[in-house]
Parts: sequence; structure tokens; C-alpha cells
Amino acid sequence: MVDQVQSSKDNVVAKFKLVLVGDGGTGKTTFVKRHLTGEFEKKYIATLGVEVHPVTFYTNRGHIVYNVWDTAGQEKFGGLRDGYYIQGQCAIIMFDVTSRITYKNVPNWHRDLVRVCECIPIVLCGNKVDIKERKVKAKSITFHRKKNLQYYDISAKSNYNFEKPFLWLTKKLCGDANMEFTEMPALQPPEVSMDPDWALKCENDLLAATETALPEDDEDL
Ligand code: GDP
Ligand code: MG
Repeated sequence: MVDQVQSSKDNVVAKFKLVLVGDGGTGKTTFVKRHLTGEFEKKYIATLGVEVHPVTFYTNRGHIVYNVWDTAGQEKFGGLRDGYYIQGQCAIIMFDVTSRITYKNVPNWHRDLVRVCECIPIVLCGNKVDIKERKVKAKSITFHRKKNLQYYDISAKSNYNFEKPFLWLTKKLCGDANMEFTEMPALQPPEVSMDPDWALKCENDLLAATETALPEDDEDL
């Protein structure tokens, strides 16, 4: 029995390059550093100025490694070079729910990404939802619905929904909607706590937003 569990753990189903993009300061580095083994085993690619974190998840079909690409801060000075995107197999676009401009820039990140990675699964993440002075509310987050991306509220500092984007990508990439994580990765202890009542409100607001018709403007947002 023990051997079986062990062999399923050793069985790497797949490895995927995950491209992490979004404005500077949205919490990309904080997010990827939560995962302890990924942080421990990360590799720096000096020529590109990129840190690659191998982040492992255990599923009912063996384990999956996401090589998460994180910039060294170049995004603060404009777009990223093609080498960052090339051979990306999935992506997370991050914005900060306390900063409207970071949400306004999401279409630019999406455009840059799909220019190189034409048809990959993408998750949009609104980070820092632990902060109650939220500027980008659920009902104004519509970009993902127009582009067929998945959306999650996350809070890197509290670990809230940390695994959600990875689970959605796993199901997409493996073409198996029934895949589940059999155990959670070891994460850094939360630095802030997500108030359960607030979390419930965020979840209800998101649900209500998905039931609302999209605005009919032709703009990207
Ligand atoms: P990056 O430039 O996108 O890599 O962003 P960083 O990871 O460097 O984070 C920018 C700032 O946002 C830092 O001061 C983080 O501590 C803060 N931050 C990141 N994630 C969260 C979060 O979930 N909640 C809160 N309250 N602050 C966060
Ligand atoms: Mg960073």
C-alpha cells in the first residue's frame, strides 16, 4: 500500500511552463514564493532575468510540476521580451484588486501573451482580496468572460485560493475535469488572515456577477 502511494507520488505525469504576468506590485513574486519547495528549488536564468520556481501538485493521476516563470521586475519598465513567453503552456495574469490601473492593464498583458502563446489556458487572478478597501469589485471584473479565461479572487499573503488557479489549469491541460489534488503543497504560513465573513461576501459577489449580463460596450473592459 505504502509502495503504491509512493510510486504514484514519484510518477511525474507532466511538466508545464507557466508564465506569470501582470503589472509590477500586483503580488506575483509574493504568490509564487508561498510554495516552499518551489522557492527552495528555484533557478535564476540570468540572460532573461527570470526566476523559475518548480511548483509541484499531487493529483489522483500522479504529480504535476509547474515551472512558474517570474520576472525580476522588468515588467515595471514596459512589456517583457518574447523569450519570457516562448513555449509557455499556460499562464496566470495577475492584477491587484486595490488598484484600478492594474486591472485596466490586463488587456495589454493578455495581448502580449497571446501574441506568442496563441492558444493556452489562462487564469486571471485578482490578488490582495484580504484588503477590504477593494477598488476593483467583482461586478466590474468582466475581461475573462469575454476572452474565455478563468477568474479567481486570491490573496497571496493569506494563502486564500492559492491552489485554485493551478487546479483549473491542471484540469484544462490534462483534459480531465475530474482531476483533483490529493494533498496540498506546503505553503508559507499566512502573513495576514482572510476574514471568513469577508471571504463569504467575496464569493457571493462573484457568483452574483457571473449571473449578470455582460455590458454591451465594444471596449476591452
Ligand atoms: P510583483 O511586483 O508583482 O512581484 O509584486 P510583489 O510580490 O513584489 O508584491 C508587491 C507588494 O504587494 C508587496 O509589498 C507585497 O507584500 C504586497 N502583497 C502581495 N500580495 C499581497 C496580498 O495578497 N495581500 C496584501 N495585503 N499585500 C500583498
Ligand atoms: Mg516580482
